[in-house]
Amino acid sequence: MADFDLFVIGACSGGGRAARVSAAYGARVAIAEEYKVGGTCVIRGCVPKKLLVYGAHFAEDLDDAAMFGWDVPTKKFDWQVLRDNVLAEVGRLEGAYTETLTNHDVTIFKERAELTGPNSARLASGKEVSADRILIATGATPAMPAIDGIEHAISSNETFHLERLPKRIVIAGGGYIANEFAGIFHQFGSHVTLVNRTDVILRQYDQQIVDRLIQISLRKGIDFKFNATIEKIEKRESGSLHVTMKGCDDFETDQILIATGRKPNTAGFGLAEVGVEMGDNCQIKVDADNRTSVASIFAVGDVTDRVQLTPVAIREGQAFADTFFGKTPHQVDYSCIPSAVFSHPPIASVGMTEGQARNKLGQVRTYTSDFRPMKNVLAGRNERSLYKLVVDGSTDQIVGVHMIGPDAPEILQAAAVAVRGKLKKADFDATVALHPTMAEELVLMR
Ligand code: NDP
Repeated sequence: MADFDLFVIGACSGGGRAARVSAAYGARVAIAEEYKVGGTCVIRGCVPKKLLVYGAHFAEDLDDAAMFGWDVPTKKFDWQVLRDNVLAEVGRLEGAYTETLTNHDVTIFKERAELTGPNSARLASGKEVSADRILIATGATPAMPAIDGIEHAISSNETFHLERLPKRIVIAGGGYIANEFAGIFHQFGSHVTLVNRTDVILRQYDQQIVDRLIQISLRKGIDFKFNATIEKIEKRESGSLHVTMKGCDDFETDQILIATGRKPNTAGFGLAEVGVEMGDNCQIKVDADNRTSVASIFAVGDVTDRVQLTPVAIREGQAFADTFFGKTPHQVDYSCIPSAVFSHPPIASVGMTEGQARNKLGQVRTYTSDFRPMKNVLAGRNERSLYKLVVDGSTDQIVGVHMIGPDAPEILQAAAVAVRGKLKKADFDATVALHPTMAEELVLMR
């Protein structure tokens, strides 16, 4: 008999969920983690990032407070205080995740594991373990380009530990991480320059909404260099960094953040040797039941490079546990996944963009609401929100909702239920507005 029914490599969102639920079904489960229990999302991703976004937003709130009668005599930000509080919260969450797993009788090995066969692995301590099924949930790591001087740049992993805030920062990339950290560093007072290899950022989002983010960011003082790439980084004696650019003038800066995507973490722990097939981006290839080319080995989350989002990894882990240990087989539905960019202001979206709808459907109607939130009007903040509904013209079904503005992700979660439920524009029209809110714009577009 094998040592365990299930051995999970990677105690992250997807792996943790699979381990906990499988154990609750009665399986004998062990999980190996070489860094910290919680994975990217909890330890160096969504959670600490969102706390920094909250911290950054105070810069605007404190400015706006004056028109609401508040006298805030000194506005001084202390990075070390926020950084240490965020890291302490991450430590607390790591403890809570560990406790949840141990409460479910999951054995935790806090060490690296390498596969030695289809049903076996070796831990860093030399201990051998065997299992009927092995689940790989090793996530992804920042893809750092092979350029001269790349050792002087950081990835999002290091942003949470910076000794001090840079006065100037160059951010490479035009995706989630680049835009979120552009907002964070700008609000904290750094001068931000975002460089992107094309003139399109946030490619998968509705470009009318993205254009609004660019307009607002430019007005705030964030610089964008499009069709530009970093060629070389040199450290000067003064400590500043000289960035040789292609496509725009060179920069002197204090920090360079590379945010040009993340690569599945599949190298160096025996996957290829045991015959697990991988794709062009080194991702593990899996079927709809998360099974790899080796029948006893499964994979969930970013390591499979399907949709690199925490809630999706959690669903994959749950589906795996339900299917193989809970006798309620099911597969993850990848349609209609809501997503958000926690930029300043944030973007949120579900369903088809206008462009996608026009390519896919015969007739498309769009409705937009372009408005200045009441709070911004009184505060004198010249920042407009934009909401957009994409409607299938032949059925009246809402096929996409796209928003930029304060609290857009909070509002969109509810709208995502409507899109998934295939509600029609007429259902939105028939819903009484909740006044005065920003969200009421969703049911007032005509
Ligand atoms: P993204 O995939 O979002 O964006 C990558 C960006 O880098 C794109 O603008 C891309 O351009 C550009 N790029 C890609 N390759 C190169 C290259 N070789 N040279 C120059 N530029 C390049 O990646 P991120 O790193 O921002 O985030 C990684 C993943 O993490 C995301 O896909 C997302 O799933 C997840 N994430 C989710 C968050 C959320 O839900 N709020 C927050 C943070 C991360 P192009 O468009 O031309 O390919």
